[in-house]
Amino acid sequence: MKKLFAIFGDPVTHSRSPLMHNSVFKNLNYKACYTRVHLTDGSKLKETFLALKLKGANVTVPHKEAAYEACDEVRGFAKTVGVVNTIINENGRLIGYNTDADGFMYAIKEFGKIRDILIIGAGGTAKALASRFIEDGIKVRVLNRSQNRLEYFKEIGCDSFTWDSFKIEKYDLVVNTTSAGLKDEELPAPLALIEKILENTSFAADAIYGKVTPFLKLAKSKNIRCKDGADMLLGQGVLANELFTNNELKTDDITTYMSKSFEL
Ligand code: NDP
Repeated sequence: MKKLFAIFGDPVTHSRSPLMHNSVFKNLNYKACYTRVHLTDGSKLKETFLALKLKGANVTVPHKEAAYEACDEVRGFAKTVGVVNTIINENGRLIGYNTDADGFMYAIKEFGKIRDILIIGAGGTAKALASRFIEDGIKVRVLNRSQNRLEYFKEIGCDSFTWDSFKIEKYDLVVNTTSAGLKDEELPAPLALIEKILENTSFAADAIYGKVTPFLKLAKSKNIRCKDGADMLLGQGVLANELFTNNELKTDDITTYMSKSFEL
């Protein structure tokens, strides 16, 4: 019988994950199929997962923290950050993992040595990236629209700001982890702040993929080297697929066929 996998999100129609994982399954003759589930209420994640008899799932915006709560056990880096983007069904128990941060580290390798980063946004992705950067000894600042979510970042040693309290510094990289620009044409902070930030960074990155966000458009107009979230997506996807297939497939083969799906 085919194993069934899915991605949960709201919105979820834009997600390329089904194409990526199905490309691997199909080309490597792995008996599995991957679909998407539009979930509005994150507290229904576990019951929906079990009702669909899923073998595993990915979780995207805005349910990654709800996914952490939904799991019976959380392993590895996901435990450090309280954010889950990959769930495996182990004999009816939901096991949570996080593959986003390592996916991002893979994506920014081409920028060389990074010492100073500004993260815009303070959601699940920002938490995962900030904790991972700190592990690597990178100095991290966080800028978010509202105060509520900044406590976590203070606790792990980041300087954190709202738009009103923000102090500009020099950065190697600024990364937009907000959902501004995902389904609208908004910048992740007021124009004047973003202008100042872009004037003080060497590189810019956006976690959003599949479109040039207003943030990246502005960075490009200032000739700043930038990248969207496609490589991050690939990196997290390869790691998630290894978990889905219980390491039965070769990583190089997964990467090859997952990359091919980006041409579709
Ligand atoms: P969360 O919902 O956990 O966090 C969203 C964050 O964005 C919050 O800090 C929120 O601020 C901020 N925000 C939302 N709208 C705006 C706005 N209009 N202006 C300014 N700030 C805003 O989301 P995630 O961390 O899960 O995901 C964030 C983005 O990253 C999504 O676009 C997602 O698609 C993308 N992503 C891409 C991946 C990839 O592989 N390329 C992997 C993971 C995520 P506040 O606290 O004030 O509400």
